Amino acid sequence: MYQKILIANRGEIAVRVIRACRELGVRTVAVYSEPDHDALHVRLADESEAIGPAKAAESYLNVQAILGAATRHHVDAIHPGYGFLAENSHFAAVCKTWGLDFIGPEPETIERMGSKTAARQRMQQAGVPVVPGTPGACSEEEAVAFATEAGFPVLIKASAGGGGRGIRVAQTPDELRAAFGSAAREAAASFGSPELYVERYLSSPRHVEFQVLADRHGHVLHLFERDSSLQRRRQKVLEEALSPRLTPRLRAEMAAAAVAAARAVHYVGAGTVEFLVDGDDRFYFLEMNTRIQVEHPTTEMITGIDIVKEQIRVAANEPLRIGQSEVEARGWSVECRINAEDPDNRFAPSPGTITRWSPPAGPWVRVDDGAYPGYTVQTHYDSLLCKVISWGRDRPEAIARMSRALAEFEVEGIRTTLPMHRRILADPDFLAGLYDTGWLENTFMARGAQRA
Ligand code: ADP
Ligand code: ADP
Ligand code: MG
Repeated sequence: MYQKILIANRGEIAVRVIRACRELGVRTVAVYSEPDHDALHVRLADESEAIGPAKAAESYLNVQAILGAATRHHVDAIHPGYGFLAENSHFAAVCKTWGLDFIGPEPETIERMGSKTAARQRMQQAGVPVVPGTPGACSEEEAVAFATEAGFPVLIKASAGGGGRGIRVAQTPDELRAAFGSAAREAAASFGSPELYVERYLSSPRHVEFQVLADRHGHVLHLFERDSSLQRRRQKVLEEALSPRLTPRLRAEMAAAAVAAARAVHYVGAGTVEFLVDGDDRFYFLEMNTRIQVEHPTTEMITGIDIVKEQIRVAANEPLRIGQSEVEARGWSVECRINAEDPDNRFAPSPGTITRWSPPAGPWVRVDDGAYPGYTVQTHYDSLLCKVISWGRDRPEAIARMSRALAEFEVEGIRTTLPMHRRILADPDFLAGLYDTGWLENTFMARGAQRA
């Protein structure tokens, strides 16, 4: 096992990784930007080092500064968390040349899955169904030809996109043509590649993703699924494990496809295979995220497996110590992402100093956060402030616990998405498990507007 790990991240995920290291008896090194000098991840780590100013490009994305800190602190490995450098195959490769383990899959795997077009091709070869679309990156003419043949509406997607960005809907050939050029320019500017492709826009799908875990000794496990269909602007808001949408039979089929997907790219570590499920129980590979995910705690709650610890163990070459038949899904778990955003003002970022911070506790409630009273929320970074996760013997109990927990939660000084979560948890459609990827924005938000 490693002696010391550097965590190349901030906020709740840096704290989460430090906690796993502590339990494993591994020392930790935090890195931080100027405004983060007093952040929780810095306080909790054994050692820390400043790596630059607030701007992420000059700190949390500053490869030279991070590797410099890793060398000075004599670490064995780097954990990238999610976002920032987590899916940067170049960074993963450079770590190797510096004699450091990157806690994640091989650089080639990250690269192969980082391009949505390359990933789709690989999955088709492996027999995993993908959303019908152009065979690879396409020109405007090829996009129009595909859409005319397959039918509108279609989505234009950036091959290198992520975080819900770089996706556009086109209802007609004219819309498709009008959007294509600017989408390519935007993709080049945001993701460093102008490559676009087009796929069918499924109406009212569910987003269901499978957590996988694989070691360097040929073992691949799935840890069941999460439903991440509650989204705003294609970004996840609330997740649950399991998915109320799946039948046991569909669950088994999708789990097998997720394991096949991981095997096809010789996956090592923790990863997520994302699928869309349509109204006829057909499922389609969407993408694979080659990192720890925001919503991983829900899976930890139902399986009892510490995914971050396993991620570190397999990076250190240890074999997984359990087989598939020992992975059991017990009960139900829900996660609410609490963002520093103002739900009454089109979810505008709400930076500022937290004057009161009283997170919930009590039976079967977990809070993953990086905040505390007096903490100042920055505009430079992701607005995710905290995650509340509940467990119950069944879905109604997990939801009731979450409602109780959010009722206890007090935050003052900034605006948060807490009020929206409280309303979702009381919504009859949500309680019945009847929602799709469009429900939150189209049905739920429209109801709020009517009431206001
Ligand atoms: P998850 O599937 O874990 O919920 P998200 O899509 O919410 O992941 O992304 C987690 C974090 O990673 C967010 O901060 C998001 O903005 C960031 N992220 C994901 N993909 C990319 C990307 N391709 N480029 C930049 N940031 C990304
Ligand atoms: P990202 O890399 O940004 O996470 P994804 O391909 O995972 O992009 O898609 C993000 C979300 O966009 C999905 O969860 C879903 O809500 C929506 N989406 C993506 N592709 C489709 C599609 N073909 N049809 C309908 N919705 C889609
Ligand atoms: Mg995705």
